[in-house]
Amino acid sequence: MPEFDLIARIRERASLRADVLLGIGDDAALLRVPAGQLLVVSCDTLNAGVHFPLDTAPADIGHKALAVNLSDLAAMAAQPAWCTLSLSLPEADADWLNGFLDGFLALAHAHGVALVGGDTTRGPLSIGVTVHGFVPEALALRRAGAQAGDELWLTGTLGDAAAALTLRAATTPVDPLLTARLNRPTPRVAAGLALRGLAHAGIDVSDGLLADLGHVLAASGVGAQIDLARLPTSAALAAAIGESGRWPLQLGGGDDYELCFTAAPEQHAAIVAALAAVDTPVQVIGYIAAAPGVRVLAADGSAYTPSQSGYQHFAKPHHE
Ligand code: ADP
Ligand code: MG
Repeated sequence: MPEFDLIARIRERASLRADVLLGIGDDAALLRVPAGQLLVVSCDTLNAGVHFPLDTAPADIGHKALAVNLSDLAAMAAQPAWCTLSLSLPEADADWLNGFLDGFLALAHAHGVALVGGDTTRGPLSIGVTVHGFVPEALALRRAGAQAGDELWLTGTLGDAAAALTLRAATTPVDPLLTARLNRPTPRVAAGLALRGLAHAGIDVSDGLLADLGHVLAASGVGAQIDLARLPTSAALAAAIGESGRWPLQLGGGDDYELCFTAAPEQHAAIVAALAAVDTPVQVIGYIAAAPGVRVLAADGSAYTPSQSGYQHFAKPHHE
């Protein structure tokens, strides 16, 4: 199937929005940014064998390619609007493309995001997505801004995706709930929007809690304490892996796509209510301290030394 047929298929299935003056089909898209808001832009690439196992279903790849990008908009408290899709495909496989679009466009539709352009080339399987959203200037949720005394919060649960990968690598049967968290992460868009005006700083946890929290602390010039006993843990993870085995996955594993944010303690009740209103579980896992560094405390108050501090692209073998 020639490149133009692939693009025609994508175009047929992409939906539009009123603010898309011109979408797929010209040399570039023409888009209208709402008056008084900032354009928020982020891109992330998924490479086969690096960001997803080689046998991942096309629909899961499509979902994940957009989800990880929407997660970045969520972490800025942005309202998603548009995306572009850069596809590098080893062959022009119509079945693969249809499956991919099923996952990608279902998530786009669920968030009201229009696919407005992209690029299609032959090469090793790789998916680059750029997302665009809006936020009023004063309400963007940055990494800088955490203050000593803030509560440290986390949405959802930690370690499920890393557990799925670890169990799989050990050829242990994996609970489908854990695999679903690896293949179909939930971008916390509604939570990000609900936190506008409530949180001081935030980030999405893609490379592991300690690594990503570290970015917030560095940008804000503060430190943090985390209580191991308060790390949110899914029932599936608790059933699959014992406490000491799962802590490294929860602190240092990746692919969670939860929001980690800080807020003044006075906002505690407002945050609980705002996130309950969008059906997003959320929990305080520690607090922000003036002294730099992260202290992780076990339930008995003793210091816990984590064994790994997050996914680094050039430091660890890739998962196949
Ligand atoms: P050009 O040579 O001008 O870059 P292309 O043939 O690459 O044009 O693209 C033609 C149109 O199809 C453009 O509007 C482009 O944005 C869109 N397009 C190409 N590939 C994709 C894709 N994978 N997803 C969405 N739109 C695409
Ligand atoms: Mg092009």
